[in-house]
Amino acid sequence: MKILVIGSGGREHALVWKLAQSPHATQICCAPGNAGTAQERLVKNGSLVECVNLGAEDLPKLSTFAQEKQVDLTVVGPDNPLALGIVDLFQQHGLRIWGVNQKAAQFESSKVFSQKFMEKYGIPTAAAGTFSEAGTAKAFCASLGGKCVVKADGLALGKGVLICTNQAEAEKAVDEIMVSKAFGAAGARVVIQEFLEGVEVSLHALCDGKTAKIFPTSQDHKRALDGDLGLNTGGMGTYSPTPFLTDSQLADTARQVLKPFMCGCVAEGIDYRGILYPGVMLTKTGPKILEFNARFGDPETQVYLTRLENDLVELLDASVSGTLDRIDLKWKPQSSVCVVIASGGYPGNYAKGKPILGLAEAAQWPDVKVFHAGTALKNGQVVTNGGRVLGVTALGKDLKAAQAAAYAAVGKIHFEGAQFRRDIAAKAL
Ligand code: AMP
Repeated sequence: MKILVIGSGGREHALVWKLAQSPHATQICCAPGNAGTAQERLVKNGSLVECVNLGAEDLPKLSTFAQEKQVDLTVVGPDNPLALGIVDLFQQHGLRIWGVNQKAAQFESSKVFSQKFMEKYGIPTAAAGTFSEAGTAKAFCASLGGKCVVKADGLALGKGVLICTNQAEAEKAVDEIMVSKAFGAAGARVVIQEFLEGVEVSLHALCDGKTAKIFPTSQDHKRALDGDLGLNTGGMGTYSPTPFLTDSQLADTARQVLKPFMCGCVAEGIDYRGILYPGVMLTKTGPKILEFNARFGDPETQVYLTRLENDLVELLDASVSGTLDRIDLKWKPQSSVCVVIASGGYPGNYAKGKPILGLAEAAQWPDVKVFHAGTALKNGQVVTNGGRVLGVTALGKDLKAAQAAAYAAVGKIHFEGAQFRRDIAAKAL
């Protein structure tokens, strides 16, 4: 099977690495990929993964490429091409592609859409209102005592969510999003949710239009600095499983969320095939959904795919075909921890092109896989090429062992300005 993976981050390297282990994969291309994807070899025939110099949002060129190369399955990593309708376009050309279509991508591209859907289909979520006018939005914030979360409706590079502790902050947040238009058209409407307290976890489920198969829990670390301080990032590290939900609580949550979700999709004519990734707050009164994402979380993918025992080609193929009910997901009993090494300054401005040393030494550590995110090859040397540079991921008999192995491997890797959190998985230990 010829496979095309779209994207260039740690998520896509993890997807490529896992797909390359499948006996069904005879050729894999990654558009545009990174220095890590370019080093992966297929188990089936030893051939190298080919990086193709096409951007993940260049839909017409990607579609032409897939037609010319007679790609059998395209796998989409990031949210933007999904929101732009890459799945619909490929399907119009008779191409087989894994990921949600444009209608289903609305769960991520519109917070108003998701909030209304959750309320209509009884999915547990925060008390909330949706607004297209600043005055009524502010009045709603006041009804929550100013302790609320103001969210721009559209995609805002993960920055459109403002947490407010009092009415003055809430009014400032509404003005920033709706009046000053800090996030452009994404802020024409807002969702305002009550502020929820609790432990936050990531859920993932693979869906095929009818069936949704839940993954084990994982937890991301969004803030840049130890102790959940500093700015929000795309994720500085993850681990799985988390101790915060027992297996039976996870099964209960899946019933409360996935069942009404899939029924609601059928009722609304949404053919949801791909990953559903809800952000969940475990509150005193039970789990509440904060938001939906319609693709794999980036650092989450790295811990999930190192634990997954199934053949990923078969899983994604079943998700496209609508035959997931015939497959049981199987997970390694070990724990997995992913520590992200980022460029100095991230998530603000940072330099690129810094040589990365120690990758070979880190790779020798048992049960460690170094996934590349923002890397490139320059004259045969791996150099930094983005904010999040590497996802150093380790399996261990328990979280403590996985954490120790991940940090031991991190200690082997050096580049100028490298920064990472030293407390990934600490909350669970
Ligand atoms: P979102 O993009 O909607 O997941 O929001 C980004 C982050 O803001 C989440 O990961 C939470 O940490 C936080 N957040 C969002 N909504 C709420 C809420 N209603 N209560 C407390 N924290 C929230």
